[in-house]
Amino acid sequence: MITRSTDVNSVRKLLQKMSPPFALVPTMGALHEGHLELIRKARQKVGSSGTVIVSIFVNPIQFDKASDLENYPQPLSTDLALCERAGADLAFTPPKESLYHADHSVLIRESLLTKHLCGATRPGHFDGVLTVVLKLFNIFQPNYAIFGQKDFQQLALIQRMARDLNLSTTVIGHPTVRAPDGLALSSRNTHLTASERADAPRIHRALCAARDISHTGEQNPSIYLEVARKHLLMNPLESFTIDYLELVDAETLQPTPSVTKPSFLATACFYGKVRLIDHIVIPS
Ligand code: AMP
Repeated sequence: MITRSTDVNSVRKLLQKMSPPFALVPTMGALHEGHLELIRKARQKVGSSGTVIVSIFVNPIQFDKASDLENYPQPLSTDLALCERAGADLAFTPPKESLYHADHSVLIRESLLTKHLCGATRPGHFDGVLTVVLKLFNIFQPNYAIFGQKDFQQLALIQRMARDLNLSTTVIGHPTVRAPDGLALSSRNTHLTASERADAPRIHRALCAARDISHTGEQNPSIYLEVARKHLLMNPLESFTIDYLELVDAETLQPTPSVTKPSFLATACFYGKVRLIDHIVIPS
C-alpha cells in the first residue's frame, strides 16, 4: 500500500521509518508509461527492501506561460493508483504553499548548458526546475534520482548541478518511452486534437530521417537541420509551428560546428499552444 504525504515536515518523519536506499522520481503528475518506467527503474536500483518515492508537483515557478500552468492536467487519484501499481512506496504531493514560502527569494541558476534549446526559448524555466529538484533532493536526500532522457537538457542540467554543488544523489537517466507510432509519451499529448495526435509522429520521423544520413559520414550540421526541417514542414497542419530545431554537442549542449562528436538533434514544436519536445542522437 502506497503512503501519501503532502507536507515537508511529516514526509521527513515518515522517511525515518522507511528503509534505505532511497530512490526519488520527481514528476508533475498526469502519469503515463514513461513515468512508470522511471518508477520501475527506481525499484530496480533500490531492490525490494529499499524505498521508492514519487513526487507529484506541478511546479509553478518553472512555467513561463500562465495558461500552460493553468491547463496542466492533474488527475491525482489515477496517478496515485498508477504509482502504487508501478511499485512506489511513498507519494509526495505537496500543495504549492508547502514547498514555497510566499516570499521565497532564492533560485538556482545555471549559466552555460541553458544557453540554447529550451533554455533559450523558455526564459526562467530551468531556474524553476533546478530549484525544485534541489529542494526535493534536500528533503529526501535520495541515494538515486531517476529522470527521463526525453528531457535531455533538464537531465544534463541536473547532473551538472549535482556535480557543481557536490550533491550526494546519483542522477540516473532513462531512455525515452514512445507510443508505437514513435511519438514520445508526454502528459501534454492529451491536449492534442485527434488530427494533431495523428500528425504528431512526424516529429520523431523527421529526426530519424536526419539521423539516417549520418551513415554517409556527413559532418555539416546544416545538412542535418535542413533534412529535419523539410520533413517537419512537409504538408503540416495549420496549427503546427517549430519553436526551435538545433544540433548541439551532446556534452556541452552548444551548437556543434561540425558533427565530429556525438550530437543531439533536438526540436520543440507547437500544435497550437501544445508544446512537444523530442531529440535524437546523431552518432559521429
Ligand atoms: P514531467 O512529469 O513531464 O515533469 O516528467 C517527469 C519525469 O518523467 C522527467 O524526468 C521526464 O524526463 C520523464 N519523462 C516524461 N516523459 C517521458 C518519456 N516519454 N520517456 C521517459 N521519461 C519521460
